Amino acid sequence: MNRFDVAVVGAGMVGAAAALALARKGFSVALIERQAVADAAQTLPDEFDLRVSAISPASQQLLDELGVWAEIRQQRSCAYHNMVVWHERGDTVMHFASEQVGRTHLGSIVENRLIQLALQKQLRLLANVAVFDLQHLLDITRSQDSVSLSTSAELNIEAQLLIAADGRASAVRELCHLPAVSGSYRQSAIVANVSTEKPHGNTAWQRFLSSGPLAFLPLSNGQSSIVWSADTARAEELMQLPDEDFMLELAQAFEHRLGAVTAISKRAVFPLSWHSAEHWLKERVLLIGDAAHGVHPLAGQGVNLGFGDVALLAQKIPTGGSVYQYNKLRQLERQRKAEAVTAMHLFTALKQLYGSQNGLVCKARDIGMSMVESNTLIKRLVIGSAMHNMS
Ligand SMILES: Cc1cc2nc3c(=O)[nH]c(=O)nc-3n(C[C@H](O)[C@H](O)[C@H](O)COP(=O)(O)OP(=O)(O)OC[C@H]3O[C@@H](n4cnc5c(N)ncnc54)[C@H](O)[C@@H]3O)c2cc1C
Repeated sequence: MNRFDVAVVGAGMVGAAAALALARKGFSVALIERQAVADAAQTLPDEFDLRVSAISPASQQLLDELGVWAEIRQQRSCAYHNMVVWHERGDTVMHFASEQVGRTHLGSIVENRLIQLALQKQLRLLANVAVFDLQHLLDITRSQDSVSLSTSAELNIEAQLLIAADGRASAVRELCHLPAVSGSYRQSAIVANVSTEKPHGNTAWQRFLSSGPLAFLPLSNGQSSIVWSADTARAEELMQLPDEDFMLELAQAFEHRLGAVTAISKRAVFPLSWHSAEHWLKERVLLIGDAAHGVHPLAGQGVNLGFGDVALLAQKIPTGGSVYQYNKLRQLERQRKAEAVTAMHLFTALKQLYGSQNGLVCKARDIGMSMVESNTLIKRLVIGSAMHNMS
């Protein structure tokens, strides 16, 4: 039996960040991942990946505190200074700029795998972290004092605390019988990397169509990452199109804001759903990140919420002493769950509001957007909450 202070299942962005935050506090950490974890010498492939995230300043600060932001920024992150949002059925275009809130940027677009790589490389350098990759989780047993897990590779681990960061289909959640409420948005998101005739201007663009939002996110090589959420049937139809036809549809859906669009990558599609675990903390098991909550990507907040979980975990668990401090973890659960559930409801409501074709709703929506656009104070509030606890 291998004994650790904490076992983290999942070395994705959130799990790797949690493992690093706790290891930096001196706790012994076992990191269990079903895929290969990067070694310290691994480099980023030249080709940009399809999966990117809009990283908020609060998440950037966490990654900075963990000592990985400098590497991420130096490699290829793209800070965006403006956000432009409009609806296909309305006259108002909302412009948000970093200077409106006295900031240098509103956020940064970074490939998920770059964040993961930077975190995993740091973890490999720490003597108090044991990485167990290519593991298939078999069983979890909880007792009053510890939690044990076993894997198909005959690995047995005992820890004071088990952190589940194994994503939306969390095996830990299943094995520990922790229920979650969930639902489908009946939409899928198509992602691809494209080049555009006009420069992206370090701007995150989002056009709301009645069938779902379409975002163009700036990449550091001048190309753009697109996230096109559409009702399932429409998304399937779009996925069937040959590249050239898809690019024409895409440019048209985007009102040709950046001119002609050319395919750089293949397309991938993700069914969209929401979920929320009923309990995040139960008998020495703590759920964080997508294992605990899942939201619509329209506001680009999924991993930012997960990093918020990690930031509070790092704040609540002091260096020295036990990593399992029930009262502090319970406070974390309450605080973060309230935030995640609010975000989930808000993004679901926004999805419905922007998807409505009802004439009255369209009118009200346009009035609301024009109020935001013309009122500096409201705009600052909107930017502040989108940037998520700017600090
Ligand atoms: C189209 C799209 C666009 C998005 N854009 C944004 C955005 O702009 N900004 C944003 O904040 N969020 C965005 N999100 C959400 C974001 O991608 C997720 O919130 C984020 O990836 C969750 O990270 P995680 O580490 O919690 O889980 P995951 O990324 O799912 O990582 C889980 C890890 O656990 C491992 N694992 C799974 N099961 C096991 C097991 N049984 N044993 C061991 N390991 C296991 C997996 O291999 C993986 O490494 C987007 C989502 C989608 C679908």
